[in-house]
Amino acid sequence: MAIVSAEKFVKAAHENGYAVGGFNTNNLEWTQAILRAAEAKKAPILIQTSMGAGKYMGGYKTAYNIIVNLVESMNITVPVAIHLDHGHFEDAKEVIEVGYTSLMFDGSHLPIEENLKLTREIVELAHAKGISVEAEVGSIGGEEDGIIGEGELAPIDDAVEMVKTGIDFLAAGIGNIHGPYPANWKGLHLDHLEKLNAALSEVVPGGFPIVLHGGSGIPDDQIQAAIKLGVAKVNVNTESQQAFAAATRKFAQEYNENEAEYDKKKLFDPRKFLKPGIDAVQEAVEERIDVFGSANKA
Ligand SMILES: [Zn+2]
Repeated sequence: MAIVSAEKFVKAAHENGYAVGGFNTNNLEWTQAILRAAEAKKAPILIQTSMGAGKYMGGYKTAYNIIVNLVESMNITVPVAIHLDHGHFEDAKEVIEVGYTSLMFDGSHLPIEENLKLTREIVELAHAKGISVEAEVGSIGGEEDGIIGEGELAPIDDAVEMVKTGIDFLAAGIGNIHGPYPANWKGLHLDHLEKLNAALSEVVPGGFPIVLHGGSGIPDDQIQAAIKLGVAKVNVNTESQQAFAAATRKFAQEYNENEAEYDKKKLFDPRKFLKPGIDAVQEAVEERIDVFGSANKA
């Protein structure tokens, strides 16, 4: 199976009442951790790079090659889509050329007419190559790669128009936020999601797959309630970062306390030094897959 467009498996998730995870990667080790988790859980997944992570990894082509080659060398059997997260127009066009199998064009900061027009262009280019497309209306709260929003509720009329562009899944704000959630956060606006879902069901029989961004830190029961109301893809980034940082900090502290012994064991070797953090990423991804209900759906 291996590398595929996300269109079919996101649709299957939507039809069967679960969600697939869109997991952001940053480097070789994170990609391995995400793939190991997906294979262990027999779950279809999207591995995604933000524009910033693409740059960090040495460009989209390098990121693409790392993922493709690992899928082969690790004998990954579950469906994996290589996805661009929050892409500008030029970046969306670039990943189509590079070979990504899925992408998000984020024109949410533009006037809606412009967003719709550019999304139509990307859909045409991407679908000609069998690449799935995600677009966004309104904006998601918090900050991701310099795109800042305030936790809005996506306008329902805009969402309906966006679905008509031919996209495969839609990111829409329902009070979710990128990054850690503030203590005074009021929770997901499930009432708004319900209205959105009902409006989209009038355009597309059976409803339309919605993407929940900022999935890290939303209580599990709210995520599961959102999945019942049409969410079929949940993005996870911050949660993996926090798991990595916590485990790495803990290991570094243990190292300080047992320096002579750890030196003797050569735990300064990066393959050993980074392992607790990377294992924590894998664990976090597996745990999310269980919450989303996509285990054993590959
Ligand atoms: Zn996002």
